[in-house]
Amino acid sequence: MNIVMIGSGYVGLVSGVCFADFGHQVTCVDKDESKIAALKAGRIPIYEPGLQDLVAKNARDGRLSFTTDLAGPVKAADAVFIAVGTPSRRGDGHADLSYVYAAAREIAHAVEGFTVVVDKSTVPVGTGDEVERIIREENPGADVSVCSNPEFLREGAAISDFKRPDRIVVGTTDERARAVMNEIYRPLFLNTSPMIFTDRRTAELIKYAANAFLAMKITFINEVADLCEKLGADVQQVARGIGADNRIGAKFLHAGPGYGGSCFPKDTLALVKTAQDHDSPMRLIETTVAINDQRKRAMARKIVRAAGGDIHGRTIAVLGLTFKPNTDDMREAPSLSIIQGLVDAGAKVRAYDPEGTEQARPLLEGVTFCRSPYEAAEGASAIAIVTEWDQFRALDLARLKDVMAEPVLVDLRNIYQAEEVTRHGFAYTSIGRGLGT
Ligand code: NAD
Repeated sequence: MNIVMIGSGYVGLVSGVCFADFGHQVTCVDKDESKIAALKAGRIPIYEPGLQDLVAKNARDGRLSFTTDLAGPVKAADAVFIAVGTPSRRGDGHADLSYVYAAAREIAHAVEGFTVVVDKSTVPVGTGDEVERIIREENPGADVSVCSNPEFLREGAAISDFKRPDRIVVGTTDERARAVMNEIYRPLFLNTSPMIFTDRRTAELIKYAANAFLAMKITFINEVADLCEKLGADVQQVARGIGADNRIGAKFLHAGPGYGGSCFPKDTLALVKTAQDHDSPMRLIETTVAINDQRKRAMARKIVRAAGGDIHGRTIAVLGLTFKPNTDDMREAPSLSIIQGLVDAGAKVRAYDPEGTEQARPLLEGVTFCRSPYEAAEGASAIAIVTEWDQFRALDLARLKDVMAEPVLVDLRNIYQAEEVTRHGFAYTSIGRGLGT
């Protein structure tokens, strides 16, 4: 199949290179000239494990190319995927669809012959209808079928998620589009990933409902963690105890500082807005959004308490800035609100992240960025683990203690055991594990 991917960000680039790796001919398009120039030169503009090698291999084998010119490759395409951003619209929280609609307009003028236009971006129900309307308005003669194919990959594990998805959702009732989508994903369902064909609106809603459910699950265990702290119970044991029940499932039951990232915050908000607009409010999700928003600043207060209550003029070290490990993505990272809370309380913040520093720097003015956890800990009255990068799981606690002003460790990801940390003379605070943590 001849595939064009419009938008070469986290989703477009990963999907494009994986399709090429299946044997399809793929052109990745982006408006951002510096991104395309970097990709052509073999540099990957994002951090995603395994991506560099896979891009190099498929580009070398002639199945993957990059361009800023949409029209040429779209003419020859069997399928054109839209994988542009759909951020929250400033002011009201609805999804901003301007990039999707702009892409649709450009596609309309370039298509030739039967072409499937596939929306991979996360978009509110009805967006596919509007994309179709725009294409027909711009080019009444276009022979296109617009379908929805939401993406479920997770940053940090994007390639394996794309190549071994739990399911592939395709929203179309058009037999010609169905045949093309079957052909594109054939290598995957041979590997037993189920294809779920449904109508376009249902496919669009599946993506939002999935993200909202996962956000709700995280928020649920975070509230259980808070209760554990009051009751002297252990949230990790509670999670294990309930997660062993297949109806609940063990995943997404890790208590922490609240969800962040490029998807959950904007997608929960967009679903809330869509539901309100249709007089069918989703109160569970409204509450999830509110609880999660408050939680991040509450984490800053937790760090302040652990450091003795007054951190004015004192130094706090923060380990991990990205919203999760194995990515450099800083969008809606909990670290942003937590650090703001610490700065508001008068702290000087020293921070370290293995891959996110470059993205974090413009977002965190006044923070000192360091080259290692030990450099960040120098002179600190407390050190807080905010993102659970693997390299933070086996810190040299004796060395940390030596360089810190006071040995206080706040573990917002529960990656340490209390005994191990206190044995080294640290005061230890974690999430939802026993009284006073
Ligand atoms: P991104 O911001 O990393 O990438 C979007 C890219 O699209 C940018 O490089 C931008 O320059 C480009 N672009 C915008 N308009 C264009 C146009 N008209 N022509 C060509 N290029 C254009 O975004 P992302 O994280 O890849 O997300 C894309 C979509 O996928 C969003 O709807 C998101 O919700 C969804 N999604 C993201 C993830 C994730 O983990 N990041 C997972 C599943 C779904």
